[in-house]
Amino acid sequence: MRTAGRKGLIERMRKRYQCQLAAEGADPSNAAGIFDEKVLTLGFARRFATYKRPNLLLHDTERLVRLLSNPRCPVQLLLAGKAHPQDLPGQELIKQWKDFIKRPEVQGRVVFLNDYDMMLAQELVQGIDLWINTPRRPWEACGTSGMKVLVNGGLNLSELDGWWAEAYSPEVGWAIGDGQEHGEDPEWDAKEADTLYTLLEAEVIPEFYERDESNMPSKWLGRIRESMARLTQEFSATRAIGEYTESHYLPAASRYRDRAADDGALGSSLLQWKQELDRHWSAVRFVGIRIDTHDGQHFFQADVASGFLTPDHLRVELYADSAQGKSACFEVMDPSGRSPDAPRSYTYSAQVSATRPASDYTARIVPYHLNAVVPLEAGQIVWQH
Ligand SMILES: *Cc1c(COP(=O)(O)O)cnc(C)c1O
Repeated sequence: MRTAGRKGLIERMRKRYQCQLAAEGADPSNAAGIFDEKVLTLGFARRFATYKRPNLLLHDTERLVRLLSNPRCPVQLLLAGKAHPQDLPGQELIKQWKDFIKRPEVQGRVVFLNDYDMMLAQELVQGIDLWINTPRRPWEACGTSGMKVLVNGGLNLSELDGWWAEAYSPEVGWAIGDGQEHGEDPEWDAKEADTLYTLLEAEVIPEFYERDESNMPSKWLGRIRESMARLTQEFSATRAIGEYTESHYLPAASRYRDRAADDGALGSSLLQWKQELDRHWSAVRFVGIRIDTHDGQHFFQADVASGFLTPDHLRVELYADSAQGKSACFEVMDPSGRSPDAPRSYTYSAQVSATRPASDYTARIVPYHLNAVVPLEAGQIVWQH
């Protein structure tokens, strides 16, 4: 399956490259003999944005040349990508690759395909053996292209960032970085580049070419098996859409039906609630906060002036950020009647365990309606200051 996938990719790549050479005014027949369907094929394709560090592989060009031109364990590298028209540093990174590709030692071993889009990505993920991603942590939100190689039996070598920080284990692929942020430290970039080359030289390439008694690369196949078995279920569009459907789309559809029922009775009342919030929210404020600590508890009392809005329009909460191993949390404060101190104001109270200092907690006022989704539908908020 892997060999067929690689073969198909190379055939399509040659056709694309032929057109590309013709468009560049070069000799299109040069596309015919490039790449070999039995050779380990590395892939690097993405938007050329600086945070993706597309030049990390170019950190030591001589080492990369040695890697690509080794006759005993040959390697070929397929690149694709675009930079935003206004992203000049990104375009500069593409130029660095285009210059590298001109070197005579790597002729026929490296190709940069233009016009990276979903069609091209689809061809690449089906045939690439090792998908490389080298973003600068913590900027990779996801790295979905690495997930796209999984079902095709492609393996990943990636920075421990985005999805790979969740998915990586030594059985399923390879990782660079230590899972920490190092800013734009050039020394750290050099260290990661060194790890990248070392992994390719010492593990990836030998494992791909190592054959057992039945002439199969059993270690490599073992890794494909682990990668497919462990990762395809979780890191898939099917799982993501299923999760969105359950936790968002179905509840939203059900809320829509509730609101539309009885000639839109609930819908109208929500609209009125929103209009009242818009009209009167500016009057909402904290008048004062008192904290008492005894018996291992903090007792918070907040006086809230709400103008024409009543306690059933609002919720007062105590919020604490995550700190020192404690996760972020909030506690709803209970309204306990009108405040004697100020007109149109109410007192709210809550008690929390004194295991965290009282200064960790900040009171806040947010809109409330039993059927509304806050803050999606009403984003107002007042923080204690
Ligand atoms: C999958 C895909 C991406 C996203 O890939 P990342 O690894 O998340 O950057 C971008 N562009 C195209 C055309 C794709 O197919």
